[in-house]
Amino acid sequence: MGAGRFAPSPSGELHLGNLRTAVLAWLFAKSTNREFLMRIEDLDRARAGAEAIQLGDLSALGLTWDGPITRQSQRLPLYASAVSQLRDRDRLYECFCTRRDIAEAASAPHAAPGTYPGTCRNLTESERAAKRELRPAAWRLRTQKDTFTVTDVLHGQYTGTVDDFVVLRSDGVPAYNLAVVVDDAAQGIDQVVRGDDLLSSAPRQGYLAGVLGHEPPTYAHVQLALNSAGKRLAKRDGSVTLGQLANEGTVAAAARTLILNSLGLPAESLDAALAAFDPARLPTHPWVFTTDREGAHGMRIPPENR
Ligand code: GLU
Repeated sequence: MGAGRFAPSPSGELHLGNLRTAVLAWLFAKSTNREFLMRIEDLDRARAGAEAIQLGDLSALGLTWDGPITRQSQRLPLYASAVSQLRDRDRLYECFCTRRDIAEAASAPHAAPGTYPGTCRNLTESERAAKRELRPAAWRLRTQKDTFTVTDVLHGQYTGTVDDFVVLRSDGVPAYNLAVVVDDAAQGIDQVVRGDDLLSSAPRQGYLAGVLGHEPPTYAHVQLALNSAGKRLAKRDGSVTLGQLANEGTVAAAARTLILNSLGLPAESLDAALAAFDPARLPTHPWVFTTDREGAHGMRIPPENR
C-alpha cells in the first residue's frame, strides 16, 4: 500500500483554497486505498501557534490521517545524509551567487526564465577558496539534464525545466526541494496531491528522486482557489479561513459543504464525497470564491472558462 499526504507549511492559517487542497489530497489517497499522512513543513516560515490552528481546522473538516504527524524540523539528519550522499558522488557544487547576481545573469538573452544560469558550476578550487572568504556557499545539484517528465493524474505527462537548483541553503537549512523529495521517499509516499502553483517544481523534484535512487511519485496538481479579482485566494481577502468564517457564524461543516460543492461532489459527508469521487470529473477551472456584503459565499466560473 502506498501513501498520499498533505504537507502544510505552518506559516499562518489555512484558507479555503488550502483546505480544499487538503480535502482533495484525502480523497485521492482514500479512493486509491492509500494511507494519508500529515507532514508539517516547518524548516522555514514556521509561525508560533500556526501548526495547532491548521491541524485543528483540518480536523474540524472531518479529515483524519494515519500514523504520527511528522515535522521536518525533527528530520534534519535524514536531509544531511542525502546531502552527503550527493556530495560524495560529486553531484553538488558550491554556489556563491547573490539573488542579484542570478537576476542579472538570468536576464541574459539565452537564459530560460527562473533557472540558474550555472555561474558557479565550473569554478576552480582557487576561485572557490577566494569566494568562501566573502560569503557562505549554498550547494546546488549538478544536474545532467535540462528537462524531466513527471506523470500527473490531472496534467498528463508534464515536462519541465530542471536546472542546477539549491539543495542546501547558504544558512545551512535544507532547501524545500530536497526535503520534500527525501521525505516523500522515506515515508513511502507515491502520490503527491498539492496546489498547481507547484507543478513547475515537480520535474526538479522527480529528477532528484531518481538521482537519490527513488521512483518519483505520481502527482496530482489541483486547481487553486481564486478571489473575485482572479488572483490567488489569500487571507487578506477576508472570510476565507475557518477562524474568520466562525466569527461570522459559519461553522466548519458549512465550510466543508462549500468545498465539496465546489468540487461537484455530494456534500452530506466526506464519505459520501469519497464514494462519488472521480478525478476525471473534477472541475477543470479554478474555484473562484467570492463573499458578498450579506456574508453569503458564492462560486463563480471565470469568464474565460464559461
Ligand atoms: N509545504 C508546501 C506548501 O505548503 C507544500 C509542499 C508540497 O506539497 O510538496 O506550500
